[in-house]
Amino acid sequence: MIELSVDGRPLTATDDGAFEILPGARTLTANFVLLSNQRELDSRYRAQLLDHEYLETAWSELPHRTWGMPSPGRYRLKVEARDFTGRAADPLMVDIVVRPALIQRRATQGTLLLAGGLLLLLIVWSYARNQRRRREALAAQVQARTRDLAEANRKLTEISYRDPLTGLANRRRLDQAAERTLEQGRQLNRPVSLLLIDLDHFKRFNDEHGHLAGDAALIWLGRCLESALRTGDLAARFGGEEFACLLPNTDLDEAVAVGERLLNAVRDGSVREFGRRYRPLTISIGVVSRQPGEHCLADLVELADQALYQAKARGRDCLVAAVSEE
Ligand code: GH3
Ligand code: MG
Ligand code: MG
Repeated sequence: MIELSVDGRPLTATDDGAFEILPGARTLTANFVLLSNQRELDSRYRAQLLDHEYLETAWSELPHRTWGMPSPGRYRLKVEARDFTGRAADPLMVDIVVRPALIQRRATQGTLLLAGGLLLLLIVWSYARNQRRRREALAAQVQARTRDLAEANRKLTEISYRDPLTGLANRRRLDQAAERTLEQGRQLNRPVSLLLIDLDHFKRFNDEHGHLAGDAALIWLGRCLESALRTGDLAARFGGEEFACLLPNTDLDEAVAVGERLLNAVRDGSVREFGRRYRPLTISIGVVSRQPGEHCLADLVELADQALYQAKARGRDCLVAAVSEE
């Protein structure tokens, strides 16, 4: 006869005769007795939980045994008994089913594994997406910074080539443009002309009207030069109250005509500043025209300067052309 209990609570067999142990149980105890009616205390027992214990246990006088709960599965409990004479009774066999906890079920584990895999995939995907977005944002930021820098650079370069007062090209820009213009003239075998322009008695104008009025006069003259020149010509502030006009592909006659136009424009115009109108200013001009050949800007400047000096000597408000090479 055999009785089973789990964690001290009796276990009853199911309809198919097996004993079912639910998840969470910790110990299984079997109590057995051989009813031989004679010297039952001398009976010996041996119990083995097949598929859990693989070695036969020793015979014992104890009519019970306890096991720690085996892992979920199906087992057979085999109980053998012999009486005081050593005669063995037929072994008793009992089926025991240890049910798995929800977490121990294959389906649950499979689902969890799948969910875990999906979660991992989601994490990896979202990490990769975040990284990509960060990279894209960074690239956009770098692009914007590069654009800003390029723009700032362009503005700086622009500023470095402009005279701050008149907004005309400065000496640096004139030097650079002259190199290109002379090279072009050499290639096309066409003359290049240069006009050096100086405001007459400008010191007196400053003294009479003040430095700010003098500045306004310089700005005004800059605008006169720009409107008198053709596309491709370059007006630059040479320094102080002196200006230069570089005329590519222009012979002496054409350069003189431009100079005359300028003399008239200045003579006929007047400087306005703070609502006041000042007496007309005049300019003196030195003109030179050369086939570039071996000439550089410095040569043209020197010749135009000499011609300008002569214009001043002739009484100002006039133009003098440097003699041509032939
Ligand atoms: P000339 O007819 O012989 O050229 O006489 P000038 O008085 O024009 O020549 P000078 O060289 O004696 O004087 C040039 C004047 O130009 C003196 C200087 O104060 C003035 N000047 C130079 N640069 C500036 C400027 O940026 N602003 C003002 N307001 N005046 C300037
Ligand atoms: Mg001067
Ligand atoms: Mg002057």
